[in-house]
Amino acid sequence: MPELQLPKIGFGTWQTKPNDCVKSVLKAIEVGYRHIDTAQMYRNKHAVGEAIAEGIIDRKELTIATKLAIWKLRPGGVLSSTRSSLRKLKLDYVDILYIHWPAPLFYRPHKTLKAMSQLVDEGKIKYIGVSNFTPKLLDKATEACDKPIVAIQVEHHPWLKQTKMRDYLKDKDIYLVAYSPLARGEVFQMPELTQIAEKHKCSEAQISLAWIMHHGAIPIPKSTNMNHISDNFDSLNLQLDQEDIDLIDSIQKKKRLLNPPFIRPKW
Ligand code: NAP
Repeated sequence: MPELQLPKIGFGTWQTKPNDCVKSVLKAIEVGYRHIDTAQMYRNKHAVGEAIAEGIIDRKELTIATKLAIWKLRPGGVLSSTRSSLRKLKLDYVDILYIHWPAPLFYRPHKTLKAMSQLVDEGKIKYIGVSNFTPKLLDKATEACDKPIVAIQVEHHPWLKQTKMRDYLKDKDIYLVAYSPLARGEVFQMPELTQIAEKHKCSEAQISLAWIMHHGAIPIPKSTNMNHISDNFDSLNLQLDQEDIDLIDSIQKKKRLLNPPFIRPKW
C-alpha cells in the first residue's frame, strides 16, 4: 500500500445540505471516522471546513479528500479550483485530490495530471486519486502521471461487486474506495442481506459495509442521521462468517446506480 494510511471506513457528504453537513461531519469525527469525502460539485466544502475548524481532533489525524469538478480538469481549472477549495475548507492542504469523472471534453491525461502533480509539489495536496475510471483508464493515468495514483473511487456494493477492478488492483499499491456502499439505501431491498442481518442482529447497512471491508475496499457511507452515523461506524466490529461472504458473493443481480449519460466510461 502507498505511504498514505487510509482508515478502513470513511464518511461521505454528497447531497448533504450545509447545515446538516456541519452537524454530521462533527458527529462522524466524534464517533471515530477519520476520513471525510467531499467534492467541488457537492457545494458543501465550507460546511466540511467549519466542522473541521471546530478542532475536535488535530487536522493531521484526518484524511480529507475532495474531487475536481468535471469542468475543472484543464490545467488552469485544476490549479485555481483547488486553491478555491482550500479556502472554502479553511485548510492548507487536502490529503487526496481526485479527478471526479474522466469527462471527455475536459480530461487530458498528461495535462490534467501534470497540474495535479504541480499541486503535490506546492504542498497543496498530498496525494492524487481518480474516480469513475475503468482499469484501462487507470492504466493510462498511471502512465501519464509522474506521481503515484494512490486511490480509485468507484461505486461498489453487493449489486456492483467490482470484481474486475478488484482483480486489477491485486498487485498494485492503490486503495479501492467504495462509494454508494449502501447502494444509496437499496441494501435494505436485498433479501440476502436481510437474512444475514437477522442472523447477526444488526442492520443490512452494517452487513454491506462489513462485506466491502472484508474484500479490502474502503466504504465511505453518507448519513445525516446521528444513529446511522454511529451504526455504520460500528460495522468495523462485525465479523461476517464465510457462509455470509459466500452468499453475498453469489448474488447475481447487477445494478449500477450512477451512470450519467454525459460521461459514460466504457464500464
Ligand atoms: P450511500 O452511502 O450508499 O447511501 C446513503 C443513503 O443511505 C442515505 O439516504 C442515508 O440516509 C442512508 N443511510 C445511511 N446509513 C444508513 C443506515 N445505517 N440505515 C439506514 N439508512 C442509512 O450513498 P452515497 O451518498 O451515494 O455514497 C456515499 C458517499 O460516496 C457520498 O456521500 C460521496 O461522498 C461519495 N460518492 C462519490 C461519488 C463519485 O462519483 N466519486 C458518487 C457518489 C457518491 P440518512 O442520511 O437518512 O442516514
